[in-house]
Amino acid sequence: MSGSVRNDGDGVLIRVWGDAERIDELCLRLVADCPPLARIDSIERMPLADAADSAEFAIIESAATAVHTGIVPDAATCAACAAEVADPTDRRYRYPFTNCTHCGPRLSIVRGIPYDRANTSMSVFPMCAACAAEYADPADRRFHAQPNACPSCGPRVWLADANGKDIDIATLGAQDAVDAASRLLADDRIVAIKGLGGFHLACDATSVEAVGELRRRKRRWAKPLALMARDLGTVRRYCSVSGAEAELLSGPAAPILLLQNAEIADARPLAPGVAPGQSALGFMLPYTPLHRMLLHDWQTPLVMTSGNLSDEPQCIDNADALERLGAIADAVLLHDRDIVNRVDDSVVRHMDGTPRLLRRARGYAPAPLTLPAFLRDAPPVLALGGELKNTICLLQDGQAVLSQYLGDLQDARTAMEYERTVSLYRDLLQHRPRAVAVDLHPNYRASQFGRRLAMDEDLELVEVQHHRAHLAAALADNQWPLEAGPVVGVALDGSGFGDDGSIWGGEWIVGDYRRLDRVACLKRVALPGGTQAILEPWRNLFAQIEADIGWPAFQQLFAGLQLTKRLQARPVQVLSAMIERGVNSPLTTSAGRLFDAVAAAVGVCAERIAYEGQAAIELEALVGDMLPNEGYPFAVVEQDGLPVLDPGPLWRRLFADLADGVAPSQIAARFHIGFADAVAELSADIASTSGLGTVALSGGVFQNRTLFERVTAGLRERGLEVLSHQRVPTNDGGLALGQAAIAAALMLSPSR
Ligand code: ZN
Ligand code: ZN
Ligand code: FE
Repeated sequence: MSGSVRNDGDGVLIRVWGDAERIDELCLRLVADCPPLARIDSIERMPLADAADSAEFAIIESAATAVHTGIVPDAATCAACAAEVADPTDRRYRYPFTNCTHCGPRLSIVRGIPYDRANTSMSVFPMCAACAAEYADPADRRFHAQPNACPSCGPRVWLADANGKDIDIATLGAQDAVDAASRLLADDRIVAIKGLGGFHLACDATSVEAVGELRRRKRRWAKPLALMARDLGTVRRYCSVSGAEAELLSGPAAPILLLQNAEIADARPLAPGVAPGQSALGFMLPYTPLHRMLLHDWQTPLVMTSGNLSDEPQCIDNADALERLGAIADAVLLHDRDIVNRVDDSVVRHMDGTPRLLRRARGYAPAPLTLPAFLRDAPPVLALGGELKNTICLLQDGQAVLSQYLGDLQDARTAMEYERTVSLYRDLLQHRPRAVAVDLHPNYRASQFGRRLAMDEDLELVEVQHHRAHLAAALADNQWPLEAGPVVGVALDGSGFGDDGSIWGGEWIVGDYRRLDRVACLKRVALPGGTQAILEPWRNLFAQIEADIGWPAFQQLFAGLQLTKRLQARPVQVLSAMIERGVNSPLTTSAGRLFDAVAAAVGVCAERIAYEGQAAIELEALVGDMLPNEGYPFAVVEQDGLPVLDPGPLWRRLFADLADGVAPSQIAARFHIGFADAVAELSADIASTSGLGTVALSGGVFQNRTLFERVTAGLRERGLEVLSHQRVPTNDGGLALGQAAIAAALMLSPSR
């Protein structure tokens, strides 16, 4: 065939002359053999009137001004680059920063637009002649690869001790700094490693001593630690990995994948401290040449956890890392390519046969998400997300760009970075919003920032109730068309500010993007002590007892229970009075708190949780594979004119089971089954009374696989279509997308 290919402002233009059949094949193979990082939105084909101007096929260099290149996600090392790094005869042998147009850093090194080397942290490394030639050659794999580098012109890596002093690698008998770090790890040391989007703390995952020491120094007591293994074979010694999961692990996004723990007999066991109380392990594969080199000699996994102290954001800067990680790590592997944007590892879990993002960051953000067609004409909207697991969302031209996971805005450092990230994204996308969407919460930092912004820039302010945003996110995630009409939404969540100022978190909401009406909820129960009750699950158990049986009656009915004695040893009289008088005991419909209460009843994290969701996660881990046919009963009662799902009946059965000595794993299973079935049934009832055929599921509680899969199956059995999250998290990481979708829909046609 003859003709040409070039980039223009709208995409790629191919002019080709040849057999019709060959041209058909070309169109098919454009999609089938698409380069790793290319994304084909559509192919438009039209006949050419003119004749071929040459017998050749040529790649024409683009006119720089016409090219509008978006910022793409960072991508794991491609096979071709990996082969070069492993080849002793290649000029990039063991070069940790090898990359090409198919792989390497992107979002993590960008400072502004246009996306070219001068606007990235590669600007301080002028290309050598060999690299420049690759960069300029349209036929080369590194044509216009902005971060292109080699050992003679690019960034370098070195090993320092905890005080920042260079470690002489020769004394370790190592061939280079990365090899030296690997040797220190083999000697049970903790090494901080500067990677792609931030620092990790690494140690030997099979060393009880090293893992214990890492937890002590990092002051991270319970939260599971992520693992990195050299290859799939190593992962398979610890977890079962399906074909689809294997593909995801080795793909360009290379996320942390939560996999079912299934250690095989001859594997060297992981230290129990890696993931206490978990049924799943979080594994990833090396995604930069540096990580490949580091793991090269390792038959067992390394712990690769974010480089920070407890809840702070991970370090990205060398000086900051030495200051903050010096007390945790024995050595620090540093390099001189600046990380401009902190990009955490993404987390994915397969549920109901589909990969679902639980944390959307490296490898995914900021790839645009296609929205339902009706939003194509919506004015640009900036949505600022929630308080925890924050992301922001910029909607324009029918697409939504969701930022990488930015973290918890309660942390001062994260809050400081937040406004800078908002500006960066506005800059990168040339985004001039007409509206700002925020959570209805009066005190969320993101909401306060958004209200100020709307005032300062004279923009429309749209305040969106937390669970409506969750459900709109589920609709947008599924590109649900407006014409398809309303759905029944179920938001099971930790907490969100409700219309009535109380704390919501177990809501049935009917509607679409423009209007969402709350039609049912979980029974309202006190949160004795407010925030304290979120940290101490036993308080929720006590509140459930008070709400249902009453503490005095409970003590008589279940006097012999361990649980009763444990509660009697606590200041429950004070709590009782607080609940009665409504002092520091807000009411909540939170599903997350119900899980906490059940966990406390079976002795899981009863005292205190060390991280958000811990009690629910450990309760689910207890369930195992053997599910009973029947779960605990729930009732549907009426409260303030709304149907309310009441866990009352469950508690009597659960306490009776405790008295009969039923195993905690059985109780956990009966609770999951009972709750899932009650949720499915109430949802189906609402669907039938409102004449709707679709149920949307959202909220952090749906990260629970047992619950999610059972609810989904229950709804399908009842003939309902289920919309759930895949591209964005079901937790608050997806909130901004829902806020943006609602604000955009209202701007198009205000309906209230
Ligand atoms: Zn590559
Ligand atoms: Zn070079
Ligand atoms: Fe939420």
